[in-house]
Amino acid sequence: MPPDNGPSDASKGLAAVESDIARACKDARRDRSSLTLIAVSKTFDAKAITPVIEAGQRVFGENRVQEAKGKWPDLTAANPDIALHLIGPLQSNKAKEAVALFDAIHSVDRPSICEALSKEIIKQDRRPHLFVQLNTGEEPQKAGIAPADADAFLARCRDVYGLQISGLMCIPPVDEAPAPHFALTAKIAARNGLKQLSMGMSADFAIAIQFGATHVRVGSAIFGHR
Ligand SMILES: *Cc1c(COP(=O)(O)O)cnc(C)c1O
Repeated sequence: MPPDNGPSDASKGLAAVESDIARACKDARRDRSSLTLIAVSKTFDAKAITPVIEAGQRVFGENRVQEAKGKWPDLTAANPDIALHLIGPLQSNKAKEAVALFDAIHSVDRPSICEALSKEIIKQDRRPHLFVQLNTGEEPQKAGIAPADADAFLARCRDVYGLQISGLMCIPPVDEAPAPHFALTAKIAARNGLKQLSMGMSADFAIAIQFGATHVRVGSAIFGHR
């Protein structure tokens, strides 16, 4: 097993990330409590995740509904205060399972998903926190709403589908400086009265914290390479 991939190393990874977060919060004159660390555990099994739970981490992110459904119910049964966030693309036919399993969904990105979520939220009487995903780099292969369409889409979420949106999520293009993408996401959130910003991953969470991230999604810096 590679040294950076073992379960004991994941709790070390968590401690290192927490220390970087503390420094970034201090630099940005922010309180640590204004920020939620989502430990992205996709592709890692219960054995790798358990040390991180034991180290006190309670918020985890997954990018596939099926994978999360397979490994999390046993872990959350043993630790009922764990919150699960869906950070990956959602299909309408998985909305039922997603609403049942997740406490937050970061990938609201089209009307058909809004409709499916709205139906399940009412049916199940469960209200996961919802984030609209922006495609700030307007990359054709990437999911998300184009910045120019964001205001209209957010109005539609509210007025047509009755969804309460908590905030915005973005994934900057890999080959660009992330700061302008974080700034744009924060600006669109502010003018729409949204308080939550899901932005920042292993490579750039400190910068995201400067730009007001309320949720950072950190995988490989905690768990090692996938
Ligand atoms: C995998 C993933 C992350 C975590 O990425 P790392 O670079 O491993 O920190 C964050 N957000 C999304 C949407 C992801 O799919």
